Amino acid sequence: MHPSGAWHHAFGGSLVLDCSTMSELVAIRRPRTGLPRTDETGPNLRGMSPDELAAFVQQTLGGPRYRADQVYEWLHKHRVTSFEAMTNLGKAQRAALGEASTVRGLDVDTVLRSVDGTRKLRLRTSDGHQIESVLIPNDGRGFTLCISSMVGCSLTCQFCATQTLGFQRNLAAWEIVDQVYRAQTLLADDAAADDAQWAPRITNLVLMGMGEPLHNFVQVRRAIDLLTDDRGAGIAGRRITVSTAGLVPAIERFGREGLAEEVGLAVSLNATTDAVRDQVMPINTKWNIETLLATVRALPANRRRRITYEYVLLDGVNDTDADAARLIGLLEGSGAHVNAIPFNPHAGAPYGRPSAQRVSRFVERLRRGGVAVHVRTPRGDDIGAACGQLALDAGSSAQPS
Ligand code: SF4
Repeated sequence: MHPSGAWHHAFGGSLVLDCSTMSELVAIRRPRTGLPRTDETGPNLRGMSPDELAAFVQQTLGGPRYRADQVYEWLHKHRVTSFEAMTNLGKAQRAALGEASTVRGLDVDTVLRSVDGTRKLRLRTSDGHQIESVLIPNDGRGFTLCISSMVGCSLTCQFCATQTLGFQRNLAAWEIVDQVYRAQTLLADDAAADDAQWAPRITNLVLMGMGEPLHNFVQVRRAIDLLTDDRGAGIAGRRITVSTAGLVPAIERFGREGLAEEVGLAVSLNATTDAVRDQVMPINTKWNIETLLATVRALPANRRRRITYEYVLLDGVNDTDADAARLIGLLEGSGAHVNAIPFNPHAGAPYGRPSAQRVSRFVERLRRGGVAVHVRTPRGDDIGAACGQLALDAGSSAQPS
């Protein structure tokens, strides 16, 4: 992710860096475990592409292609987590699929509700890890969902609570996708409990939760393909933002493989000198600001979306007049947008949040320098759900339900 810290990436065969490179870097951690092993019930069908699912169903059941289309719809449109729920399949077919595979989802351990309408979902994986997703009400209709791409994180951004958890493993595509389905199901259940006619929908997705999404490139790419499919969640690519802490080889791949033209990119910058960024985001010791910005500028143009730079304002560290002036210079002519995020404190963090006056002064200087900037209002900080706070704790006034 990112700036948002807990709001940020798979060491599978897909990785951008090889292990020898990674072992030299303090900034990039090795996973303790790989992707979850398929359990005795076989692969999770929710992570398969339509063609892979068709081949699997054909091999298991035989028969026409529409069988696989039915299964796909149950998984991605109706979000079911058992074969028994697939009522247009025969009993024998459901049993055969159940012997060869699984469709289980993530378990919802806890839902924390903020006074501002934000909800944090704590989810449990089949191998017992916990991850978090955050549902944020939009100003108009619908919700933005912030999702995780790792258990813990492979990077060590010092302002971020997630990095204190270490790096356990990457999430599989089905675990990334299922965060959206569990959150949408929560909205549907809440609406039913309120006798509402309609359940609000998740209209925007940000991969800014736990983990650096571009470090889990293959699983993230697969999840995006599934989530943008009209036969499932059908979330428009222009409403999806992938955040990165500055993993340069993966940003190049993001452009090379066409993702830059499909979804938005948010780059977590957070400093205007290498000396400060080396401290705040140790990944900078591998790919410095100049290299990062040059890589982002070389991405293919996305006509619908600009690049966003996330800038967490740390009191006295990166929020001076000189920082504002340098940031204007760094972004000059890029057309980029800055999201200024006053730091959200969390236990043990070596930083403080700047005063409102200091934030205003920094932002005004950027505006006068021609930089488009938006100040992100903290959402859900009473339940530890704001940017940079995802660390599996409950916040100060959480009300589990
Ligand atoms: S440590 Fe990981 S989750 Fe936290 S901001 Fe950095 S990349 Fe994102």
